Amino acid sequence: MVSKEMYELGAKRSVIRDLFEYGKQKAAIVGKENIFDFSIGNPTVPAPECVKESIIKLLKTKKSDEIHGYTSAQGDFEVRKNIADYMNGKFNCQLKAENFYMTCGAAASLSITLKALTVSSEDEFIIIAPYFPEYRVFIKNAGAKVIAVPADPEDFQIQVNLLEKAIDFHTRGIIINSPNNPSGVVYSEKTLRSLAGLLKRKSKEYKKALYLISDEPYREIVYDGIQVPYIPDYYENTIICYSYSKSLSLPGERIGYILIPSFVENARDVYTAVCGAGRSLGYVCAPSLFQRVIMQCLGKTSDIALYDSNRKLLYDGLNKMGYRCVRPDGAFYLFVRSLEENAVDFSENAKKFNLLIVPSDDFGCPGYVRISYCVDPEMIKRSFYAFQKLKDLYQSG
Ligand code: PLP
Repeated sequence: MVSKEMYELGAKRSVIRDLFEYGKQKAAIVGKENIFDFSIGNPTVPAPECVKESIIKLLKTKKSDEIHGYTSAQGDFEVRKNIADYMNGKFNCQLKAENFYMTCGAAASLSITLKALTVSSEDEFIIIAPYFPEYRVFIKNAGAKVIAVPADPEDFQIQVNLLEKAIDFHTRGIIINSPNNPSGVVYSEKTLRSLAGLLKRKSKEYKKALYLISDEPYREIVYDGIQVPYIPDYYENTIICYSYSKSLSLPGERIGYILIPSFVENARDVYTAVCGAGRSLGYVCAPSLFQRVIMQCLGKTSDIALYDSNRKLLYDGLNKMGYRCVRPDGAFYLFVRSLEENAVDFSENAKKFNLLIVPSDDFGCPGYVRISYCVDPEMIKRSFYAFQKLKDLYQSG
C-alpha cells in the first residue's frame, strides 16, 4: 500500500515534462535540429563566470567540511549576512542574517513557507491565474485550500476587485509571482499599490495578518530598464521566496532562500515555524558549496541580453504571422493565444510540425500556450517555418 494522493501525483507527469520527454524521443528519430522544443524553463544562457571561478577557488582553498559539510539548519551565518548586506545596499532596507533561511530553491521556499503558515485545514491561499502549476501541489501538501483568481486577460495584471471578493476569514495569504511564469508580465506600480491597499484593509477587517508570499525566481530577468521593486516596501506582511535557479542559471543546484523581514507580524514566530517546516519537510541545510558560491556572486546574473534578443525575435516574428500575446516585460516566456479554444488540441496539432508548446490548462487559464524562450536563438529562427505551418493549418481548416 502507498499513499493514493502521492501515487497519483507521481503517476501524473506534468504536461511540461511530458512534452520535454516526447521531444527527446522524437529528436532521436528526426534529429535534434528538427525539433522545436519550447516546453521547459531550463536556462540555456550559461551561468556567469563568477560561478565557475568561485567553485574552483572554494575547492582549492577551503577544507572539505567547510564546503561539503552541514551548515546550520537555516544556512551558513556568513552567507545570510552577506545576502542581507547586499539586499540592504540594493533596496535600502535593514535586513540581518536572522531574516534569511537558506533553501533548496523556490520550490522548497514555497513549500516551507506554506507549511509554516497553515494553521488549520480551513486555511486558504489565493493564487492568481495563470499560475505556476506546482503552487496547487505545495498548498495542498501544506494542508490548506487553493483559491484561484483570474488575472486581467487584457494585460495579466491582478484584478484587485476580483481578489477582494475571494478574500474571506479563512484566507491566510496570497501568492504573487512577478515577473510571471507563464505570462512574462511584471506587476505595475498601480497593481502593487492597490494590492497592498486591499490587503491592509482586509487584514484590519478580519483582525489578522494576511501574508503576501512573493515568489521571485525571475526578479532580475527584466527588460527595457524595468526594475522589480522590493515588495515589503508596499506591504509589510510580505515573505519573499527567492531562488538562484534562473538569475544565475543554476536550476540543478537547488539554492535559494526565504526572507522574512522583521516588521512582518509575528516575525520571530514565523521564522521559527519556517525552521520547523524546513525540518519536517527534510529541507534543512541547503547545499553547502552553493551557499558559498552564491555568496561570491551577489549582484551578478547570467547574460539577460541574450533572453532579451530571443524575446524580440520571437515576439516580433509571431506577431507578424498573426499570433497574439501580451508583450512580456520579464521572465522568459511568451503566453500566446491558442488558435482554437482547446489549447490541448492546439498543442497536439503543433506537434505535427515538431513544435513543442505547452497548453495553458494546468496554469489555470485555458486557451493559451506557453512558449519558453530560454533557448538557442538558431532554434527560434528555424521554428518560424513550423509556426507558419501551424497557422496555415488553421487558416485552411
Ligand atoms: N516559481 C516559479 C514561478 C517558477 O517558474 C519556478 C521554476 O520554474 C519555481 C517557482 C521553482 O523554482 P526552483 O527551481 O528554484 O525550485
